[in-house]
Amino acid sequence: MLPAEIIAQLREEFSGQGADPTILEVPFSGPRFRRVLEEAEARLRRLVDIASDYAVLFLQGGATAQFAAVPLNLLGAAGRADYVHTGYWSRRAIDEACRYGSIRIAASMSAGDPPAIAPRDTWRLDPHAAYVHITSNETADGIEFDAAPDVGRVALVSDMTASFLTQPVDVGRYGLIYASAQKNLGAAGLTIVIVRRDLLARAHPHTPAVLHYGLQAQAGSRLNTPPMFSVYVANLMLGWLEREGGLAQMDQRARARAAQLYAAIDGCETVYRCAAPRAQRSRISVCFRLHDERLMPLFLEQATAAGLLNLAGHGRIGGLRACLYNAMPLAGAQALAHWLRGFARRHG
Ligand SMILES: *Cc1c(COP(=O)(O)O)cnc(C)c1O
Repeated sequence: MLPAEIIAQLREEFSGQGADPTILEVPFSGPRFRRVLEEAEARLRRLVDIASDYAVLFLQGGATAQFAAVPLNLLGAAGRADYVHTGYWSRRAIDEACRYGSIRIAASMSAGDPPAIAPRDTWRLDPHAAYVHITSNETADGIEFDAAPDVGRVALVSDMTASFLTQPVDVGRYGLIYASAQKNLGAAGLTIVIVRRDLLARAHPHTPAVLHYGLQAQAGSRLNTPPMFSVYVANLMLGWLEREGGLAQMDQRARARAAQLYAAIDGCETVYRCAAPRAQRSRISVCFRLHDERLMPLFLEQATAAGLLNLAGHGRIGGLRACLYNAMPLAGAQALAHWLRGFARRHG
């Protein structure tokens, strides 16, 4: 979702009535777009509290391009990295990284296991790894880290796509954070990378220029035409996040929304089940199942008719999922919780 006020602003600006060209009609190299990019970076640095020893990059290709860019840029002379396997998206990151170097799975899970993040003290970490990769929120599985794990002196890299800007982050604990924008920051096409500057010098010589952190940092993310519309929308979203009270406020809202849904699911345990361990339940991706999976088509049909949309789980995992990104109002979660109880009464 996007906040209604941002949709309204975009509708107004793109109505064809304005005197000035829209952001889709100006050169990326000109002052107008440069101001948008600079404002977006300044807002992001304020919101997240990003120190000057970190570069902020505005890139293309989604988190999936970062699955390749991270090993290409960071493996360096060590040539090896540790990945923590916690579900679908970390598996995707691992599969891609294996194309570029020696990738070790520091903590694993088996097919068919309920989703879970293995306890930190069971991870087997290589002190000479170039980095340790985690996935802060497993969007398809419904679990998340509650804080940055301690990985010693090795650079911690996090795919924060699903939880980015939904809570305060201690950036200093990370070597690199990446997140595509379509979940919490507006429109698809843009990926934010926050990277500690001392890591910029390790790129493999074959790294494509558009994915090369050092070259993109030098070029101010304008090595080629950036995804201008997505950057524009992200800047509006960053302004909205500041006006709404920042990341601590987003975290409170995320917790309140998720609590509504988990209470409804737990309260109707003869109809629904949530496999995630309680302490790791995601505030963002509420994943659950019907005990009687034959009711799935009916559930989805009736929910859609009630205006409760996109509740089918990730295609590779199945089940049900409520995606509660930043712009989802509490009333949306309340409406779904109420409807879940009604469905359970009718079919329990
Ligand atoms: C959605 C998602 C992705 C996929 O991102 P793309 O921008 O589609 O490449 C990657 N990681 C996580 C954790 C996600 O939630």
